[in-house]
Amino acid sequence: MKRFDCLKLIAAEAKDALVVSSAGAMTLEWNVLRPSDGNFRVRTLGLCSSIALGMALGLPQRKIIALDGDGSLLMNLCSLPTIARMQPGNLLHIVFDNEVYEASGSKKTATACGTDLVGVARAAGIKKAMWANTIDGFAQAVSSAMTADDLCFVGAKVTAERTDVPPYPIDEVENKYRFIRYVEKTEQIAIIKTNLPASYA
Ligand SMILES: [Mg+2]
Repeated sequence: MKRFDCLKLIAAEAKDALVVSSAGAMTLEWNVLRPSDGNFRVRTLGLCSSIALGMALGLPQRKIIALDGDGSLLMNLCSLPTIARMQPGNLLHIVFDNEVYEASGSKKTATACGTDLVGVARAAGIKKAMWANTIDGFAQAVSSAMTADDLCFVGAKVTAERTDVPPYPIDEVENKYRFIRYVEKTEQIAIIKTNLPASYA
């Protein structure tokens, strides 16, 4: 399967879901397919799943999609027992497993040598964890996860192939503030609270 084709299917289902994506070319591809201030790009390899968990717990009424990679998840496997323990029913965790650290020279990851990330997720306690082996199977898994109220983990083996898309147009700081303002507006909550200067107190 090609990651870009899978991302297209997610974009068709995502609606107003907040989407956290891992570092790498996937984020660029995703933002071309669904440009939105509701996309949050994680630049630190590994933290996608943990940040998505925090969002899912903080906004239980909102669907949160984590777009993770094999290299990223392998770097933060300890997020899986925590996600399983907290059971956020609004979290869909998708892992694109291309068996390489694509962003840093395409060295093999442990999944190229047999590590089964869906098996790890199940063993961590995530009951609804499945491999999607075909594009139709992937579409079905995403579609049912988007309408379900269960924590769901979907693994997809994809080719190590990038789609040529433009670079991400904003830096981390702007992405952070745009994302927060988007959540504030769409959830009608205040997240950033600015302290008044002492002279106004
Ligand atoms: Mg990878």
